[in-house]
Parts: sequence; structure tokens; C-alpha cells
Amino acid sequence: MSKFKKTDRVMARWPGSSLWFEGTVIDLNDIEYLVCFEDTAKSKYVVKYKDVKSLTEFRRRSKSRGRSSSRGRSSKTKSPGRRSTLEPKPSPAKTAQRAVEIIKVIEPEPVVKHKTIVEPRNVLERWNDMEHKNVLLECRNDVEHKNILERRHEVERKNEVLRTDVFTRLSRADVAVQRTSSPIWQSHRIVSSNEKIEYNSQINNVRTVTSKKEPTPKSLGSRLCGISCSVGSSIKSGICAFIPSLATVKFLILTLIITAMPVFLTEMCTKNKCTVMEMPVMPRKFQVYYDPLSIALVAGFLVTQLLLYLIPLGKVVKPKNGATVHCNGIIALLVSVAVLSSLMYFGYDVLQVYTKYRQLLATSMALSMVLTLAVYIRARYIPDDAKNPVGNSGMFLPDFFTGRELNPAVRSLDLKFLLFRVALLTWIMINVLVVMKDLRANPGQYSPTLLTACGLQIFYAVDYLWFEDSYFTTYDYMRQGCGLLFILGHLTGPFIVTVFTRFILNHGTELEWYYLSLIVALNLVGYTILRGSNSQKHSFRSNPSDPALAYLESLPTPAGTRLLVSGWWGFLRHPNYLGDLLTFISWGLLCGFRHALPWILVGIDVLFLVGRIFEVESVCKKKYGTAWNSYTERVKYRLIPKIF
Ligand code: NDP
Repeated sequence: MSKFKKTDRVMARWPGSSLWFEGTVIDLNDIEYLVCFEDTAKSKYVVKYKDVKSLTEFRRRSKSRGRSSSRGRSSKTKSPGRRSTLEPKPSPAKTAQRAVEIIKVIEPEPVVKHKTIVEPRNVLERWNDMEHKNVLLECRNDVEHKNILERRHEVERKNEVLRTDVFTRLSRADVAVQRTSSPIWQSHRIVSSNEKIEYNSQINNVRTVTSKKEPTPKSLGSRLCGISCSVGSSIKSGICAFIPSLATVKFLILTLIITAMPVFLTEMCTKNKCTVMEMPVMPRKFQVYYDPLSIALVAGFLVTQLLLYLIPLGKVVKPKNGATVHCNGIIALLVSVAVLSSLMYFGYDVLQVYTKYRQLLATSMALSMVLTLAVYIRARYIPDDAKNPVGNSGMFLPDFFTGRELNPAVRSLDLKFLLFRVALLTWIMINVLVVMKDLRANPGQYSPTLLTACGLQIFYAVDYLWFEDSYFTTYDYMRQGCGLLFILGHLTGPFIVTVFTRFILNHGTELEWYYLSLIVALNLVGYTILRGSNSQKHSFRSNPSDPALAYLESLPTPAGTRLLVSGWWGFLRHPNYLGDLLTFISWGLLCGFRHALPWILVGIDVLFLVGRIFEVESVCKKKYGTAWNSYTERVKYRLIPKIF
């Protein structure tokens, strides 16, 4: 039961600390208040009921604590920061967390203290030492508290990029850090940011120290591999230059997987043979993949889509990157189909394109690499706020894979949006070619199973084109870096999902009409969940006060935006992924159970979706803090009700 209502003035505990400040309740739910604090930044945080008190109650308690202090009464009179010697020592994890809290209240001071390089691990160790010596921060009075908080906001802004770098790579490249106690590549970035941290027992002595020391130059090899290397003897560093860090190895493996996957999946299932029990027979000569016509086709298709993108028709969206996007995907589709029909009308054998499948895939892969490299280099010249917070580790391969920039735009051209549309249109075109190929092979006969499979895939893609504007509120657009994973995924993705329909074309069996009907029904259930949840979230994100959404419950968050806790997003935490999974399963069912390949594709999709779930949830937890915890307490399952 809430004690306070909106606009009530209260004393509330600052999240993650033991400090209390005055604020105003601006929103509430059944367990928490959203409090606007009285600091200069007017910070808004979600605070649990128990951490909010009325002003009078708080003053009464403070006074009584003051009195007991004067009588010399024990632990209650201690400041929240001081720990009794009888209390258990905190765990290392807590200590590290405390250290993160501490770093939030430090302020840079332009004093040269140390010339030595401090690495993230050393910083943590020093924090641990500090904790063990019971050197804790103590804020002496309210005035000081307020000053610290104001300074904290300023410092937080300045140190945001630095902290993200250090802690992201601490967790990612933990093994690399453990391998050596000598400075690693990351530490040079810290030094290059001229930031070092020194602690004393008093808060005023806890400060960030500027070092004038320049980063030790690294060889090209070590930059490429992101190596953990000591700055010792030249021999040692020479050897180190060839030892890649764990992060690099991990991203090397991921790069190999995502580049090999489309090739293997398409080579495994050709017209002559379709098996996963043998390695596919790859063309002996690399030249097989090189085909000028395919290069011209891919380039021509991209230029056409670029021109269609520029047609000033359709809903206008202006993302933060400065681009102007016209959501005219359906127009682009109609024009593309018209061009294809005209080519056929004038006697051009469009099915030739289908025979170039392998070369088109190879060209798309090569193009992905070139484009990713261009975006990677371009990221050198972009402002910090356009950078991907998790794609700028300074290591080539991880950053190349993840993407250093979030949403690259060249004037009105939004690259991610264009690639998204190109992927959908390529997918539709391949399916149209598959149907045409079947009709040519069996004139006058058509395969209901193949038509159903191609029809369902085309329907899925057209739906995304129709609701194109909802792409701008997806994780894909807002949070995923524009690196190899994104670019290659979009340029080769259509070749992967059409393995289902190409399989049916070459090896499928005709299914009975009732079986087909059940599969279509399953697909439509998936589609309803997918579209319903995507549109619900998009409408809510675009206009949370839309009267049409008034029936939906939502939770306030410190980030200012609210989280839906009813409707599709109250049913599961990722309802759209469930919808996606059901549609994938329906495509697999159309292929039957005689071959493993379609089911391997379904398995790959499950892996992608589960991986994405953990990625999205970790980002949301960081962004929404306790509000996200409340959401997960309320909506317990992620993907499958009662199971996961
Ligand atoms: P989503 O559309 O799932 O969006 C995730 C974002 O939604 C979060 O980052 C958060 O962003 C917001 N959000 C999460 N929970 C809530 C809530 N309760 N209330 C309001 N907002 C919430 O992003 P994706 O890019 O992952 O998915 C887009 C589409 O792509 C989906 O249809 C998905 O099925 C499909 N997809 C398919 C994959 C496959 O392998 N088949 C893989 C990945 C995606 P914020 O709060 O910051 O706005």
C-alpha cells in the first residue's frame, strides 16, 4: 500500500547508496516510486517503498539519531559508510560493485601523481585493498552530499566512455587480463585518456589523477590482434605480438562461423545431393565464385534500391543520426517486381540469375567485408555519441565484428535501414525465382507445398516492409552496432532462409492439404504474436500517451521511458521472438522430417534468438536498473511460457 501519492515531497534513499535526499514523487506502482531528486540534474530514480519516508518522519529520526550519538550509543550512530569491525567483510564481487559506485563520486583533478601505467585489474585490486583497510567514504553532512552528487553528474558524463571500455573489456577479456599482471592494451587506452585513480581515506582525497604519460606505441600486429603484452624487453614484446587475446580468438571464431555458415548451408543442399552427414564438396577453383555478371547484378540491385529509397513518398522518419527516411518499402517492392516482369516481357531469361546463386552469395559476402571495413574506418571521424558503446575496445577484430558505429548515415541515407530493406527485397526476389524455376521445370503443374512455403516467406517479408517504420524502435536498429555481424547478416541472410524453399524445390515431398492447413495455421499464430507484439511496442514507444493504448499497464523507469507490463509484453518478455520461432518452425515443418538440414536451420534460429535475449536483457538491466528487476519479477518467462 503506497504511503505517498504523485507530487508528494519526500526523503528518498539514493539508489545504491545510503544517502537520503529530498525529492518529489512523480510516479508510482505497487512496489516502487519514481522520485525526482533535488539535485541540479533533477535525477529521476525508481526507489522501493521502504526507501522513501516523509520529510517529518525523516527529520524526527535524524534528530533522535543525533541525540543517541551524543550519548555515545553504539552502532546506530555511525555514518552509513562506516562499518563495524564485527561486521563481515564484503565479498570481492560486492567490493568491485562498491568500487564502481565509488568511481561515480570521484572527480578528475589535473595533478600528476603517478607515472606508472595503471591497468583495470590493478585498479580493482587497489579497491579491494582499500576495502580491506576499511578505508570507506564518508560524507559528513548534507551539504557535502549535495556537492558530491552535483559533481558526480559532471564526472559521470566525462568518464562514461572510459568506464564502459574498462569494464566491458574487463569482463570480455578477463582471461587476457589474468594471463599477465603487466600492462595490457586496454591499459594504454586508460593512460591515453589521461585518467588514473588514487585513493585516500577521505572523500576529498579520492580523486582522478591526470597523467601526462603517452601511451606506449604498439606494433600493427598487436593492434590487429588486441594483444595482452608486457612492455618489457623487445624480445618478450616481439613474442607477445603474436599471441592474440581471448576476445580476439572468440571473435575470430565467430567471424569464421558467420562467414562459413551461408556457404556451407547452400553447398550442403544442392540439386544433386542434400545431406548434413558429409562435408559439402566445395568447388576446387576459387574463380568459380568470381563472376562479373553477379557483381553487376548485386551492384545494380543495390543502386536501384538506393534510388528507390530516395523517392520522397511514404511516412517520414527522422532518426537521431540526421538521416531522413521515407518508409516507402512497398513502393520499392512494386517497382522491383515491375522491373522483373518487364525483363521477362522483353525476353530476358531472369532464371539465369538463379543459376548464379553461388556467385551472388560470394559477391554479397565480399561486399559485406568491404562495406564493414569502410564503416570501421569511417568511425574514426564520428563524434563519441554516435559510437557503439560496446564496439570500441581498440581491438580490430572484436570492433570490426561488433561495429564501432551504431547508425551510420550519409546525408539522408541511413545505411542500416537500407540494408534491412535490401535484405527483405532480396529474400522476396529469391522466392519468386524459386517458384518460377519450379514452374519451368514442371510446366502446367504447380507444387502446393512449394507455393505455400514461398508464399509464407514472402508474406513475412512483405509484412516487415509494410510496417517498416517499426524497425526504428527495434534493438537491431537502436543498439546493434553496424559491424560485420549486422552487415553480413543482412546481405547473406536471404540466402540462408531460402534454404527452406530451395530444399522443397529440390528434395521436398508433397504434403497433404490438411497437413498444409495445420502448418499455415501455426504460421499465422506465430505471425499474430510477432506482429501484435512488435506493433504494440512500436506504438507505445512512438506515443506512450496514445489513448488507444490506455488499457496497457506500464512501469516507470529511471531512464524516463516506461516498460510495458501487460498486453503481449506482459505475457512474455520477448513475445516477438516466440512469434518468430513459430514461423521458423512452420517453414521447417513444410520440409518434413526426412532431412536434418531444415531442422538445423531451426536450431540455428533458436541459438540466435536465445543469444539475442541475453544480449537485450543485459542492456535493459543496465538501462532500467531496479525497474527492469520489477519487470522480470512480474513477467517471469522470456520465450516460452512456464519453461524459459
Ligand atoms: P525487439 O523488437 O525485441 O526490441 C527490444 C527492445 O524493446 C529492448 O531493447 C527495449 O528497448 C524494448 N523493450 C523490451 N521490453 C520492453 C517492454 N516490456 N516494454 C517496452 N519496451 C520494451 O528488438 P530486436 O531487434 O531483437 O527484434 C526485432 C525483430 O527482429 C523481432 O521481430 C524479432 O523477432 C526479429 N529478430 C529475429 C531474429 C532471428 O534470428 N530470427 C533475431 C533477432 C531479432 P528500449 O526500452 O530501449 O526501447
